[in-house]
Amino acid sequence: MSDHTTDIAIVGAGPVGLFAIFECGMLKMRCHVIDALEALGGQCAALYPEKPIYDIPGFPEIRADRIVEHLAEQAAPFDPVYHLGQQVSALTPKGERWLVETSAGTRIDARAVIVAAGGGAFGANRPPLPRLAEFEGHSVFYLVKRREDFRGKRIVIAGGGDSALDWVLSLAELAEKIYVVHRRPKFRGTPDSVARLHALAENDGPVELVVPYQLSGLEGEGGRLEAVTVKTLEGETRRLDAEILLPFFGLSMNLGPIADWGLALDHGQVAVDPTNCQTSAPGVFAVGDIASYPGKLKLILCGFSEAAMAAHAIYGLVHPDQALHWEYSTTKGVPGHK
Ligand SMILES: Cc1cc2nc3c(=O)[nH]c(=O)nc-3n(C[C@H](O)[C@H](O)[C@H](O)COP(=O)(O)OP(=O)(O)OC[C@H]3O[C@@H](n4cnc5c(N)ncnc54)[C@H](O)[C@@H]3O)c2cc1C
Repeated sequence: MSDHTTDIAIVGAGPVGLFAIFECGMLKMRCHVIDALEALGGQCAALYPEKPIYDIPGFPEIRADRIVEHLAEQAAPFDPVYHLGQQVSALTPKGERWLVETSAGTRIDARAVIVAAGGGAFGANRPPLPRLAEFEGHSVFYLVKRREDFRGKRIVIAGGGDSALDWVLSLAELAEKIYVVHRRPKFRGTPDSVARLHALAENDGPVELVVPYQLSGLEGEGGRLEAVTVKTLEGETRRLDAEILLPFFGLSMNLGPIADWGLALDHGQVAVDPTNCQTSAPGVFAVGDIASYPGKLKLILCGFSEAAMAAHAIYGLVHPDQALHWEYSTTKGVPGHK
């Protein structure tokens, strides 16, 4: 257990939470940042670290993990205090301040709170297989953090949407074998990906379509997968000799504890005033994917702008006796830079 006092508590260390540290720091406000994940970067780090992003202004193309590294570097001069691997479970008013409490017993007393919690607690949809938990994290993965980990492997990729197809196309370059298991012959990915998938499957390469089959069981010991069994709706079964299973059945996101904090919600997101990103609770702001207002776009670049607006609105709460003098970063500079 640990107790802290700060200017701002930021819930979520995704790209938008990280940029909020910078914006707050530029206005002389200290931040503590809490994330349920063990690493910084939210969806970028957890779901698609090696994918290129093309719509970050100023970067024609940048990998998701690289943008996270840049954001963490940009925030570093402002000495953020990170509390990772713990979920914010409670948010309670304390006079004009707020008390943020986490699953690990951390308590943070802050003048304002920025909720940058993305889709809330997000997780992959898990296939209903016996003994699944035994293999998760060892042989069954819901995301690909490093392609190289799959070089020379025998892999089952299950699912018919874009994620499944993207990874079949990508891993086909380095895997020994890829079985693509889908419950119907028609795939839901983009037409280009579907065409490339069929072309690969018709070649003599590593890709084999296993349709229309569904996952039915896992074989192996001590977390090491040896085979995946699949079956058709008619009960016909096959045993696929594989050491890795990558199920891509989509993500489910839910607000988790955030839904109980008394904030006005809008279809599973936190409703905010679009002029400053304040929620229905004074002193509590929401930015990034979790924030909802008319015309909201769930894009990183919009989240960056919302973080700037929230920081400027919070300034008056943290520094009530100091008028905010507008300055560009080019004029003001950043600690550690000339
Ligand atoms: C495959 C894919 C491709 C994408 N491509 C693009 C693209 O090209 N361009 C683009 O702009 N956007 C893209 N996006 C969307 C982009 O990733 C999101 O808009 C962005 O991540 C939102 O950032 P965020 O910081 O608001 O939330 P997130 O990245 O979701 O981060 C939120 C963080 O909050 C944490 N959290 C949630 N609840 C709690 C809690 N109670 N306690 C503690 N921590 C909590 C979560 O663990 C998470 O780390 C893509 C998304 C996906 C899935």
